[in-house]
Amino acid sequence: MIWPRVIGQRRVKEMLLAAIRTSRLPHAYLFYGGEGVGKDAMALELARVVNCDRHGEEACGECPSCAQMASLQHPAVRFLTPLPTGKGETSEDDPLAKLPDADVHVLQEQLRLKAQNPYHTIRLPRANVIKISSVREVRRESSFSTEGGKRRIFIISQAEAMEAPAANTLLKTLEEPPGDTMLILTTAHREALLPTILSRCQSIRFDPLTEQEIAGALVERNNVPAGQAATIARLASGNYTKAVELLDDDIMELRKDVVDFVRKALSRNVVDIVESVEKIAGTRDRDVAVRFLNLMLLWFRDALVLSHGGAVINEDQQSDLQRFVTNFPRADLLGVMADVEKAISLVGRYAYIRLVFFRLVVRLRGAIVPGAAAHATPVPVSRKTV
Ligand SMILES: [Zn+2]
Repeated sequence: MIWPRVIGQRRVKEMLLAAIRTSRLPHAYLFYGGEGVGKDAMALELARVVNCDRHGEEACGECPSCAQMASLQHPAVRFLTPLPTGKGETSEDDPLAKLPDADVHVLQEQLRLKAQNPYHTIRLPRANVIKISSVREVRRESSFSTEGGKRRIFIISQAEAMEAPAANTLLKTLEEPPGDTMLILTTAHREALLPTILSRCQSIRFDPLTEQEIAGALVERNNVPAGQAATIARLASGNYTKAVELLDDDIMELRKDVVDFVRKALSRNVVDIVESVEKIAGTRDRDVAVRFLNLMLLWFRDALVLSHGGAVINEDQQSDLQRFVTNFPRADLLGVMADVEKAISLVGRYAYIRLVFFRLVVRLRGAIVPGAAAHATPVPVSRKTV
């Protein structure tokens, strides 16, 4: 695989390599696509390859230029990101001049983390705009030539955070770019950029990563066991950064709660049912509720696949799933999945979370144990059946 530091995005890599081979790199790229798909990572890798002293198709990782890139301290490469505004700061001040030392320190630390892991999301308190003073620096620096024939590269991350005056200042550089300068803008909000900026950049779309790509990266980079990686990849919606964040959320613990919820929903014990609804709805955290429901969707999807002899994602749950499939041969699993999807959309639309979950309990009982939902008919469901 080429450029292994960047996960997937084969189409984009081939386009960029073709441009390098034919010496047709444009003066300005716009990398756009969802969060966590590798736009910054690709921009940094392109900068590394283009400026590597060995001039190969892969950055060597050993030359002085690669060493400077490894700490994001390359004299010809600048990484711009939204910054906080200091007290009394005007557009004439240097971007960092009026910031308290603490802010500058956090920025340096965040850039260090970004250099180590190009998928790191830079988080700075109160940082919401790319300053016009930062963009003026781009203009000024691009007028100097670099040492050793290096290409001057400015990566403007979260380019949508440029307000109109900053964007118009950038436009001047985009209109008459100095010979060896390349700008790479990255954004998850292309629609928020000025049309004049868009028209002067070569736009490249980044697709969401596939589940396989994310799962593979979690195994390789984060030492996650394969089964867990597959489950998390399924929840990450093509966003590797989100997948890594999910690692901290103890998804496997949440999945236990999901299985417990289904088990109790199918029991006749009203107290158990209320308790299990309360456990999840009581957190009032919509993100957690949605994640919970997505795990449930995944679990029922596995049950459906297993009932047709296919391979499950929750590999470590195979025997539980098998028991469920055996005990509920008449379960309408497609109907169940539709109900869970409906619940996901309701929670996302700010419906009352408890109500959504109680409604789901009724639907689950109706679809899995036909005849159980409408009235409290005793149903021979023991705690061991799920
Ligand atoms: Zn190198």
